[in-house]
Amino acid sequence: MSESILKVSGLKVAYGGIKAVKGVDLEVRKGELVTLIGANGAGKTTTLKAITGTLPACRVEGSISYLGQPLNSKQSFKLVEQKLAMVPEGRGVFTRMSIRENLLMGAYTRRDQAGIEADIEKWYTVFPRLKERSAQMAGTLSGGEQQMLAMARALMCHPTLLLLDEPSMGLSPIMVEKIFEVIREVSKQGITILLVEQNAKLALQAADRGYVMDSGTITMTGNADDMLHDPRVQAAYLGE
Ligand code: ATP
Repeated sequence: MSESILKVSGLKVAYGGIKAVKGVDLEVRKGELVTLIGANGAGKTTTLKAITGTLPACRVEGSISYLGQPLNSKQSFKLVEQKLAMVPEGRGVFTRMSIRENLLMGAYTRRDQAGIEADIEKWYTVFPRLKERSAQMAGTLSGGEQQMLAMARALMCHPTLLLLDEPSMGLSPIMVEKIFEVIREVSKQGITILLVEQNAKLALQAADRGYVMDSGTITMTGNADDMLHDPRVQAAYLGE
């Protein structure tokens, strides 16, 4: 089995009296595309925020290890230094900067100018829409294009692990298909990905393994293809 990149054990998160996560165990291994699916409010985003240390004040128990070390970083710049990149829900691109400037921001911990330029060109081939609009302000892009830019920017730090929170949220069906194509392509390039998604079908079709989360707990896990064909998953999450 390949090296463990991320291991979450017994994670519990409570916002005041609300128990959002009630003992989650989850693992992502090198090169895998793992998806965490589940309905609205299941606790998926809270789990991701616990991993990145970006939760608001609340009670957290359990352990999270990244590359075998406990992860207790509290600020996102430290995460980038550790090559852990997160694309949050709502994307967070710098709207008043051009696409190229956004990509350069993603590489701010790097000093290899030639490598940075080569990476910009590499990701422009995966995201051709960004290349066409390189000098345009990010705020003028469509939602799907901003999602692509946020992913490309995250990839500029050469992440060991890429966390994606609901990349398909709010996008048109065509753009959702396109985003998933890109996620598969990024995964093919060897990047390890943890993908949180409500679109269970597309997420399981793209992933190697999956976890189903319901009311704060993991209710099912396994090979993504087996899960796609599991009648319980089909009934609850695939509308079949
Ligand atoms: P969604 O797809 O809607 O983002 P999710 O599976 O990511 O859903 P979370 O956002 O993690 O779910 O929410 C889990 C539970 O925690 C929900 O009941 C939510 O209302 C609650 N919750 C989330 N953030 C907070 C907060 N800052 N304060 C209080 N309760 C919160």
